[in-house]
Amino acid sequence: MAIIIDGKELAQEIRNDLKIKCSELKEKGIKPKLAVILVGDDKASQIYIRNKSKACQEVGIDFEEYLLKKDTTQKKLLDLIETLNNNPNIHGILLQSPLPGHLDINEANMTISPKKDVDGFNPVNVGKLCLNQDTFVSCTPYGIMKMFEKYNIDLTGKNVTIIGRSNIVGKPLVQCCINKNATVTVCHSKTKNLEEHTKNADVVIVAIGKPKFLKENMIKKDAVIIDVGINRDENGKVVGDVDFENVSKKASYITPVPGGVGPMTIAMLMNNVIKASSNN
Ligand code: NAD
Repeated sequence: MAIIIDGKELAQEIRNDLKIKCSELKEKGIKPKLAVILVGDDKASQIYIRNKSKACQEVGIDFEEYLLKKDTTQKKLLDLIETLNNNPNIHGILLQSPLPGHLDINEANMTISPKKDVDGFNPVNVGKLCLNQDTFVSCTPYGIMKMFEKYNIDLTGKNVTIIGRSNIVGKPLVQCCINKNATVTVCHSKTKNLEEHTKNADVVIVAIGKPKFLKENMIKKDAVIIDVGINRDENGKVVGDVDFENVSKKASYITPVPGGVGPMTIAMLMNNVIKASSNN
């Protein structure tokens, strides 16, 4: 039976440390503040924002929400970002995705100042990650790297297979794993013979959004399994991209859903806001 990587507990530890750092900053007169922009009324985004707001409150970070109507123009969105860029009391800016289809998310992310880009989506920060320079690492990959660190899982020389190539998870994860000396394979919806890549892997990270996609016959014995997916099964229960019940019998380590990668993502967002505030 695999060791369960407890993301909930580790995230709590991280938030406790950040709480101390946050009060130290306040003693120096710095009040860390995160601005979150939501365009439209996407229900899932509203839940994510509520969770982020709660985490901010716990750590002591001020949280300001900017709600824009779903027919907001690109210009209005960019103007708001510029205003927040120029506001010295705002340390981090987060643009909640998805945006309504008429808006250009790439241009919006490029407009967020790299110094306030706590999601790590500005191309300057993406480039710095590629060059293994100090930067804002996007929160989900960063949280996964913290889990490896906590559980002493050394990636040096390991074969890591990542399934999913999104800008938010898959692509930055490639850089994070290479920076830790892993040999990385990236699979996606056009990959042929996916099992060849997963069976050969010491570590499999799945981020595709398909309930219970990774089965036990697709991995080698004692592999480390990281499940990023958040899905609902046929009974409405939250499940990951991994068939946890069966895969956990063959793996050496595994993250649960819920309670694995999800809480770590929010903890690393808090970490990045404190980092942005400290850099001021
Ligand atoms: P996405 O939805 O943008 O893209 C899905 C990726 O999966 C694509 O790269 C696609 O090529 C690949 N894919 C789809 N079907 C595949 C298949 N059958 N075989 C191989 N590859 C396939 O990706 P995303 O935004 O990274 O989200 C992925 C999942 O992770 C979703 O369930 C999302 O909710 C979840 N997620 C969780 C967190 C967290 O904090 N836990 C953060 C971000 C995303």
